[in-house]
Amino acid sequence: AKRSIKDNSQVSYAFYDDGMRHSMMIENAIENRMEMALRNREFEVYLQPKYLFSDEHIIGAEALVRWNDPKRGILPPNDFIPLFEKNGFVKKIDTYMFEEVCKLLQKWKKEMDQLTNMIISVNFSRLHLENTSLPEELLAIANRYHIDPKMIEIELTEGTVFDNENQMVAIMNHLKASGFHISIDDFGRAYSSLNTLKNLPADILKLDKAFFTESADNARGNKIITSMLNMAKDLDLITVAEGVETQEQVDFLKEKGCDIAQGFFYAKPMNVIEFEDFVNKKLKS
Ligand code: C2E
Ligand code: CA
Ligand code: CA
Ligand code: CA
Repeated sequence: AKRSIKDNSQVSYAFYDDGMRHSMMIENAIENRMEMALRNREFEVYLQPKYLFSDEHIIGAEALVRWNDPKRGILPPNDFIPLFEKNGFVKKIDTYMFEEVCKLLQKWKKEMDQLTNMIISVNFSRLHLENTSLPEELLAIANRYHIDPKMIEIELTEGTVFDNENQMVAIMNHLKASGFHISIDDFGRAYSSLNTLKNLPADILKLDKAFFTESADNARGNKIITSMLNMAKDLDLITVAEGVETQEQVDFLKEKGCDIAQGFFYAKPMNVIEFEDFVNKKLKS
């Protein structure tokens, strides 16, 4: 057995080309800096507004992480979240984002009346679902900033379900009992979508943006979206369409009874100051 391990490692070593070596060097560089970057507050909350289809009101926003690196500039999550999923650091990032959102909600409550009704959603990696005390930990942070959990939505991706469904359901039930909203993110991207819905105590279903980017003018795609929306309604779930980019998509989704829209058609993710300006301008106009 020993020899085959060695053989394997030699084989795989032989396959490392320059590109792989380069990306490993980048990964090492990131791993060497990530703790420091977190302490230096280089990770920032960006916010993308969510709109109610019925009256075009902004009802909240999704918090999306950006890494504002002094040397490399603002990095999108795809440049580092996959690595942080591998090495576990994503758990610290998610908790940090959650706390930043609580601080923000507290600031708005004190200083900006017009923003006090925003529900902000935070992404949580599947790795958190190994931690059964997650609900207590999040509640403790929310309490520290005097934030009602009703102002916060926890986005969990559907793919999370496979490994440990019972534990996930237990944690979700606990989060829900604490008052947090829970959404299933990227719904429809993984396989047993419909079956997972049966057991998950979620309130909100976010349809994966692939449905909109890949089937915008596709009659079959539209039928699938329509039936997902109908099913969600039967299950009393609030529906969110993300990745909405065109007027046609808006008209279609509205007609089919989708509740909430998020996408470049309305607004891109923006930093906190831009978001506050954006909402204030909207309210004045
Ligand atoms: P996601 O949770 O599905 O977030 C939505 C992504 O779609 C965001 O990409 C957003 O900028 C993008 N988007 C919004 N509207 C449109 C549109 O109209 N068209 C298109 N093509 N894209 C649109 P972003 O910010 O680059 O984030 C990528 C992913 O990184 C997120 O996908 C999420 O899975 C992950 N992520 C972001 N922030 C966090 C975080 O704090 N924690 C964790 N665990 N994951 C995060
Ligand atoms: Ca999300
Ligand atoms: Ca999503
Ligand atoms: Ca996602």
